Amino acid sequence: NLPGKVALITGSTSGIGLSVAKKLASQGVHIGLNGFAKPEEISVIRKEIENQFKVKTFYHGADLKEGPQVKNMVQETRKALGSVDILVNNAGIQYIESAVNFPEQKFNDIIAINLTAAFLTTKYALPQMLDRNWGRIINIASVHGLVASVNKCAYVAAKHGIVGLTKATALEVAKTGVTINAVCPGWVMTKLIETQIQQRADQYKISFEEAQIKLLEEKQPSVTPVQTEQLGDLITFLCSDSASQIKGSAYTMDGGWTAQ
Ligand code: NAD
Repeated sequence: NLPGKVALITGSTSGIGLSVAKKLASQGVHIGLNGFAKPEEISVIRKEIENQFKVKTFYHGADLKEGPQVKNMVQETRKALGSVDILVNNAGIQYIESAVNFPEQKFNDIIAINLTAAFLTTKYALPQMLDRNWGRIINIASVHGLVASVNKCAYVAAKHGIVGLTKATALEVAKTGVTINAVCPGWVMTKLIETQIQQRADQYKISFEEAQIKLLEEKQPSVTPVQTEQLGDLITFLCSDSASQIKGSAYTMDGGWTAQ
């Protein structure tokens, strides 16, 4: 059912988003990209996807902190590629500090990018999906959408929020051919957690590799990171017809993190 459909994936210039973009493209899905990167990097990503998978791509550089840019991204992607059938709300940032010392602006930015932007893309993408009676919205939450860790108040609040947004919006469209679900990964080795590993390496005066194991051991029983490609496979499954009755769920892929 996927060839010829169009996916808009936020934050798809690196990490999980880029991997999901490639996986969906491999299924014949045209790809709307978003996220920050140098123009030459964006052009390399687009050419690679277009040449390897013979699909169309479009890039919109919306800063997801800015509501009007988010609305424009959905409209322009639809204009360029014809529709937005699949929406993957993936962009996210992290900041680690106690609530007492947490900068107010940082808190607001995290809520804006990790939560409000997903509400806005949903608001503007959903009407056309409902008109066509087919659509998939997949919100990349986190284990932090289900449980908390210290010094991550904004991230945990935003991720719990996006799980709530997923459930509430999924119910609104439950009788239609549109499904809305969340995915909750544990540690995935991307840029987002490199800083956290480096901080541990500096703190304990150990190598980056040793710090990576230490980080995994604290929370992830498998002591193995989730691969971005594995998330791509899960998301592709959620887009399939077999997943048409999966509505409002929060799928963990966390090496056992939330089973504890
Ligand atoms: P990443 O840093 O590799 O990618 C983040 C993407 O978001 C990049 O493309 C970046 O340019 C984009 N982005 C950041 N701020 C933006 C803004 N204001 N406007 C537009 N785009 C913006 O990180 P990742 O690990 O691939 O994270 C992707 C998602 O997965 C995030 O929502 C993150 O919270 C979630 N997640 C990651 C992990 C992990 O261990 N890496 C675990 C659970 C959940």
